[in-house]
Amino acid sequence: MITNNRLTEAQYNQNFSDIHPMFETKDAALVAANKCLFCYDAPCTKACPTSIDIPKFIKQITTENIKGSAHTIFQSNILGAGCGKVCPVEKLCEGSCVYNLMEETPVQIAKLQRYSTEKAIEENWKLFERKPSNGKKVAIVGAGPAGLSCAHVLAREGVEVTIYEKESKGGGLMTYGIAAYKVTPAFCEDEVNYIISIGGIDIKYNQTLGKDFSLDELQKNYDAVYLAFGIGTINKLNIPGEDLDGVEDAIHFIYNIRTNEFKNISVGDRVAVIGMGNTAIDAATQSKRLGAKEVAMVYRRTEAEKTCTQHELDIARLDGCATLWLAAPKEIIGDSGKVKALVCDVMQLGEPDASGRPTPIPTGETFTLEVDMIIKATGQKPYTALVEQIGLENNKGKIILQSDKASTNVKGVFAGGDAINGGKEAVDAVQAGKDGANAILNFIF
Ligand code: SF4
Repeated sequence: MITNNRLTEAQYNQNFSDIHPMFETKDAALVAANKCLFCYDAPCTKACPTSIDIPKFIKQITTENIKGSAHTIFQSNILGAGCGKVCPVEKLCEGSCVYNLMEETPVQIAKLQRYSTEKAIEENWKLFERKPSNGKKVAIVGAGPAGLSCAHVLAREGVEVTIYEKESKGGGLMTYGIAAYKVTPAFCEDEVNYIISIGGIDIKYNQTLGKDFSLDELQKNYDAVYLAFGIGTINKLNIPGEDLDGVEDAIHFIYNIRTNEFKNISVGDRVAVIGMGNTAIDAATQSKRLGAKEVAMVYRRTEAEKTCTQHELDIARLDGCATLWLAAPKEIIGDSGKVKALVCDVMQLGEPDASGRPTPIPTGETFTLEVDMIIKATGQKPYTALVEQIGLENNKGKIILQSDKASTNVKGVFAGGDAINGGKEAVDAVQAGKDGANAILNFIF
């Protein structure tokens, strides 16, 4: 049965409390920071898409220069606080820390990054001076990581920035698309407010491109436009029964959790989550934490080809979510219009496909899972119709950039983030925003 209010208030609070608690004392942070070897040519910095000078900010913590440390982080990544919570650090900075080569646990880079940046946000430290206004105006579509990062670089240079955001809050997927136990909506709001406190950034909320305003209007009224509107809904499964009651899109499911009280979110007794990326993990773990009795993650390849990180998979397993490898959804069976079961093909792996991963091939055998809710997390679709309508060169809806990796085929229109790459990490979007801002500064001056 799909129902809400399965748990007590205390249980919801416990299940959704921060999965990575902060250092309990200053000494604990100092001990963690002093573990760093301050490597010359630091591999951790090279592994960070925004190239944060990690040994420098950790060194600043060891000398109790927390303001300087936060400045070092924000200079490269203005969303450094949020990224410290949501980055898959085991495949980025921490995964590259030299301690791994010694078979020791790496330096706690993300936790140290949060130590400095959360303090900066809490204390509202003014770490950047905005140059006097130079009369140039730039419009940004989307107040997610790419848009905010672009806006901050431009605002620092004295540009007047207006961000048009379709939701009622900024932060993009940080605010609306990530498990609540990793980053809370309140934290995201504080982070957005901190970023725009530099001045010269006006966010207009509830404004959708193609509905409330057009690209033509932006081109007429601004010196340049940056498009950072992300990607849309989940790909369809294209199997019988997909329209039954109880089939849910993971992005929609997570959005509801982010914008409602936990007790108001409905979840099934037995949930199947289709997919094995980080969004699938967020949907599975949160289903369990909302009180689902059984959650199974269904993936058509093997564990070796999963797209989530091992750390994410470990969270799902610790939450009691089962994993079904080499299983592809074939049909959803209903009863009185509601989901009753999921029939899966048993797969085997064949030759590599275009992505380089082995192609899953049905063996002819099937099995049936008794479920009452199915959550689809099988990759998101770009906004193809919108991109076509505004005349941008694209590859199946993903905007194609020119050789500077920031401008589109339309003069004065730049783009970055998930609308280009089809969905990467928040930290990649932050770097795209910086690249976009630099290309725009070259264009307008
Ligand atoms: Fe410090 Fe590890 Fe980076 Fe070396 S690789 S600078 S030890 S965090």
